[in-house]
Amino acid sequence: MKRPGESLRPSYEVLAIRYATHANRLARENFLRPEGPDAPMPIDYFIWAIRGRLGTSTPGVIVIDTGMSNDAASRRPGRSVLTTVDRALANAGIDPTQVEDVVLTHMHYDHAGRLDLFPNATFHLQDREMAFCTGRSMGDGVLRWAIDVDNVVSAVRFVHAGRLAFHDGTAEIAPGVTVHLIGGHTDGLQVVRVPTDRGWIVLASDATHLWSNIRTRNPFPIVADLSRMMAGYEEVEALADGPDHIIPGHDPLVRARFPALAGQPDIVRLDQEPCR
Ligand SMILES: [Zn+2]
Repeated sequence: MKRPGESLRPSYEVLAIRYATHANRLARENFLRPEGPDAPMPIDYFIWAIRGRLGTSTPGVIVIDTGMSNDAASRRPGRSVLTTVDRALANAGIDPTQVEDVVLTHMHYDHAGRLDLFPNATFHLQDREMAFCTGRSMGDGVLRWAIDVDNVVSAVRFVHAGRLAFHDGTAEIAPGVTVHLIGGHTDGLQVVRVPTDRGWIVLASDATHLWSNIRTRNPFPIVADLSRMMAGYEEVEALADGPDHIIPGHDPLVRARFPALAGQPDIVRLDQEPCR
């Protein structure tokens, strides 16, 4: 919720950009305790962008997550890239070579894949996520299944090039835009809180894959620390102005509920009120 003394200005345009889907997926892949485990339940894959308004002092564009490559998708059954990330960004009017700030919510293959598209960016990552993806947890096949080592190597190279901004908990990365350590799904997962014309929204990424994960307290089954994932639901709710201000990381309903950017059915405006 809005804190005393906090202003809703500046206000940003916020886009969810769908680039991939997993169509032939079952409910038991999305919930620890599915009610109808064999019911079909597809998920979508998104990146997000925060755009400052012209004529204000806010930055041009912040990109949140970098999607997956066709190669990474081909190694996981059923995942299909609908629009390559560079083309998806172009559809939103974003040139990735001009982007100066990229937030990596966590290091999973579908969130930290196309790092090569952003040659001039600083990448924002939590200390704990770098420790997680380079440390002893990666000795375990279950925990490393969703992490591609080439992306980790790229992140280490960014450290040595002075292009990785580490955060330990909450940090402001642009006027009014903050990152928050949540953990749970991975050890160092972070979410992004953004002021918009409709209030404070939280790009929750995989703190909640679907609205139903957080609303029914039925977690997604890929989880590094279940206690922190459950506590994370409370933290995300406290940061957002309401249930529709929490943007889940993989929910097809996001694209169904928010108004599309003109002419772009795979890009929706999260700073505008949901349609239904
Ligand atoms: Zn993930």
